[in-house]
Amino acid sequence: MEKLIELERDKTILVSSNIYNYDKPDKVYMPIDKEATILVGSNSEVKIGTPLYKTKKEVVTSPISGKVEGILKVRVINEERDSIVILNDFQEKKIIVPQVKINLKNINKDKLLKLLKLQFNIDLENKKEIVLNAIDDEVYVLTENFYLFWYYEGFLEILDKFAKIFEIQNITVAIKASSSENINKLLECLGMYPNIKLKILPNLYLIGKKKFLLDYLNLEEENTVVIKTSMLYDIYNLIKRNRQKSDKLITISGDAIKNPTIIKVKMGVKLKDALDNFLEYKSDDVIYIANGLMGGEVVDINNIIVTNNLDSLMVMRKKKERLEGKCLNCGACIDICPVGINPLLLSNKNYYLKVKDKCLRCGLCSYICPVYINFNKYLKGDRNE
Ligand code: SF4
Ligand code: SF4
Repeated sequence: MEKLIELERDKTILVSSNIYNYDKPDKVYMPIDKEATILVGSNSEVKIGTPLYKTKKEVVTSPISGKVEGILKVRVINEERDSIVILNDFQEKKIIVPQVKINLKNINKDKLLKLLKLQFNIDLENKKEIVLNAIDDEVYVLTENFYLFWYYEGFLEILDKFAKIFEIQNITVAIKASSSENINKLLECLGMYPNIKLKILPNLYLIGKKKFLLDYLNLEEENTVVIKTSMLYDIYNLIKRNRQKSDKLITISGDAIKNPTIIKVKMGVKLKDALDNFLEYKSDDVIYIANGLMGGEVVDINNIIVTNNLDSLMVMRKKKERLEGKCLNCGACIDICPVGINPLLLSNKNYYLKVKDKCLRCGLCSYICPVYINFNKYLKGDRNE
């Protein structure tokens, strides 16, 4: 097992377990994938679940009911994309997507196998173990944790059904020792599911990454399927609600706000519209970081849209930029890299190209450096490519 470390954290930043719901936006903006076939036109009437566009991998459906206004460019974390704009009629009309009309009670094995492979890239055939991964690998982020907290009954029911259908012997729910609320909830109900066991993991950074998680649990990759709780929520929507998910959880946290919390928002919402309704600031001079302090990136809050790949937003007090010092050759960045990369060589183009796919973008090399050398500039490729 690699040496994983516990990150320093400000213990006064606590994320509330009360979800703030922002489910009635005036408009949503659904970013369109490249090479998608658009299935609606301007002024089309849509319901929750109406297919908007399709790609080779998926059909993306409307999260609200209303009318299509047209196509507009929006910002999705670090890129601009065309999006389908839908004006909400607030009537919450829903359709069931016919190809996913299934029922947990009488679901057929072949149909389920095909659905999980196609939609989620999950193959349960000939597997011995399922691991439900409820671990967030960033400080102050609890999105995966709270998917489990709010939906654990449905999740356990689905996992138990999968185990029976595919004759899988064991299911492990992996959570961090700090998730005491989840531990208590699960301990109360696991008696009903003798094949599901709870595994409590230490609070180490990256322990939720599949490779390190399997190492820690002493499980073999070829026999095990690891499912994140956020993905099980998508599966839960298809199987229990017979539709694709129309909303998601996002952790809103950081040292510049008074009320860190989890928000439940419709897909395609302008995040700022959701935040304006509840966020209380401690400071005026802040930066916004999407997807965690270690591996995330600074974003412009005025434009950002809620998409599948947005899991958290940190609102942090702006600090004076720390100037990089001269390397002390202490070797700490080399010692800490969990995949054996030498960060000191990342500025060399040939070395960078050799290791760029192996690098986890975990930020540990920059985190540990005593003279604040920031390796992200090489990892983002802006010097080498
Ligand atoms: S960001 Fe890449 S090079 Fe740096 S510690 Fe993580 S894996 Fe290693
Ligand atoms: S941790 Fe910083 S100071 Fe130490 S060897 Fe790496 S770059 Fe140099």
